[in-house]
Amino acid sequence: MADLSPELLIRLMAFVCVFGLMALWELLAPRRKLSVGRGRRWPSNLGIVVIDVVLVRVLLPTAAVGVALIAAGYGFGLFNQTSWPLTVEALLGFLILDLVIWGQHVAFHKVPWLWRLHRMHHADLDIDVTTGLRFHPIEILLSMLIKIATVVLFGIPAAAVVAFEVVLNATSMFNHSNAAMPAWLDRVVRLIVVTPDMHRVHHSAVRAETDSNFGFNMPWWDRLFGTYRAQPAAGHDGVTIGLPIFRDQRELRLDRLLTQPFRAPAEIDRSSTAPMTEVRS
Ligand SMILES: [Zn+2]
Ligand SMILES: [Zn+2]
Repeated sequence: MADLSPELLIRLMAFVCVFGLMALWELLAPRRKLSVGRGRRWPSNLGIVVIDVVLVRVLLPTAAVGVALIAAGYGFGLFNQTSWPLTVEALLGFLILDLVIWGQHVAFHKVPWLWRLHRMHHADLDIDVTTGLRFHPIEILLSMLIKIATVVLFGIPAAAVVAFEVVLNATSMFNHSNAAMPAWLDRVVRLIVVTPDMHRVHHSAVRAETDSNFGFNMPWWDRLFGTYRAQPAAGHDGVTIGLPIFRDQRELRLDRLLTQPFRAPAEIDRSSTAPMTEVRS
């Protein structure tokens, strides 16, 4: 477990730097007032990260990058059959992984049992840097298996896999953050990467808005497949973050996060007529 290979060190350093930067940015220049705040949410959101990291290391120790090296050794996958320049294969591999993760996110919204797992990410009552790390362990494991399958199928170079995972982790913390950005800058940045204002639409309690802006990294797939929504109808200050169910603040506890997939039926929170109860403290 204490094996700090260069790959792990790169990932850890990038994580610590981006997390610190975004936490400071949203503290100094918050985009909107948090309804619950950090104190009640951060211990659980960060607790989930520890569980996720340990579980993946124990159950899938080679992870996607190890599988990329094994596939290259055995000549598995499309790019291990071609002799294209490494940069071309790496760029294509990065794009393919991003599209697959986008498609996976859509599937986690559309398939009821997958939505049960993913709705824990959406049940956070505020959205900030830690929401970008808050995913149910089973969703994290499934996502890793999907990534591994993609890496094997396409023979994606290990360097591209590491780059993709570092960038995805960083952009997820960036676009979930509560960091304020001038409107003109948001308009420019969201042409290249998903911005906090763009992803906040996805965390709206209004279902049509929850089912838009699925991108975590590149913003192009949503524009290409017609799921792009520029702003929430109620505006960024008026939008209700979370889901119609799980609005009780007790649902922010770590044990409650872990059991959310196995409780209320998936259909309840997908109904636009579900009552919006007030947040209780
Ligand atoms: Zn989602
Ligand atoms: Zn999100």
